[in-house]
Amino acid sequence: MVRPLIAGNWKMNGTHRSLDLVRDVVSGLASLEDKADCLVCPPATLLGQVSQIAGESRLVTGGQDCHAEESGAHTGDIAAEMIADMGATYVIIGHSERRSDHGESDAIVAAKAEAAFRADLVPIICVGETLEEREADKTIDVISSQLKNSIPDSAANQTFVVAYEPVWAIGTGKVATPGQVAEVHDEIRKQLSQRFGSHGDERPLLYGGSMKPGNAAELLALENVNGGLIGGASLKAEDFLAIYAACVSNL
Ligand code: PEP
Repeated sequence: MVRPLIAGNWKMNGTHRSLDLVRDVVSGLASLEDKADCLVCPPATLLGQVSQIAGESRLVTGGQDCHAEESGAHTGDIAAEMIADMGATYVIIGHSERRSDHGESDAIVAAKAEAAFRADLVPIICVGETLEEREADKTIDVISSQLKNSIPDSAANQTFVVAYEPVWAIGTGKVATPGQVAEVHDEIRKQLSQRFGSHGDERPLLYGGSMKPGNAAELLALENVNGGLIGGASLKAEDFLAIYAACVSNL
């Protein structure tokens, strides 16, 4: 069985005042069954402090993006090695907001995944179609192309996670139906299996897009959904922990 992962993406939210949220998550997690991994990805400015608070607890931390190179003249960018140096173990790569706001291509995402492997971070590689692409019946084509080109061949020997995040469901309150999610996740699993064999069968597949306590149980119960990538609801400890609880109660 694939061990599930509940991951919070704080995006560009949080100041030092948000550290209480991390303390609440750490203490809440201690009373929930240890049947899934739990991750928060705060802004880079808080990553060191969040990692320190997470300490030896079950909460782990990650970055929201990294540069492909290890160092150099890239003002404002952060290397995967720097994220690891902050005590993090994961990094989100290719989030649709990075793809659209920063023009990140699949090739850039693949280079960032290589950087994550180099720094011993687990990349969470995001894929997802826009509303226009879904309405044009191109969802599976878009996902297939993103999987093929955003996941480098070197992933065959590396730990990685894939997140399916339909762009139209992110931060909009619109959730993909269980049928829509199952169709895409089953396809992702099939393609990872074909490409990477049993290694592909063992990769956690996360759903992301307006996941909340009220809809999490239904989505997390789907066969090839092994957790969630959660934006808005990860900014409230109570909601984030309720999603974690829904995940472990399914198992
Ligand atoms: C995300 O940021 O990856 C996300 C899924 O956001 P939200 O849960 O707010 O839709």
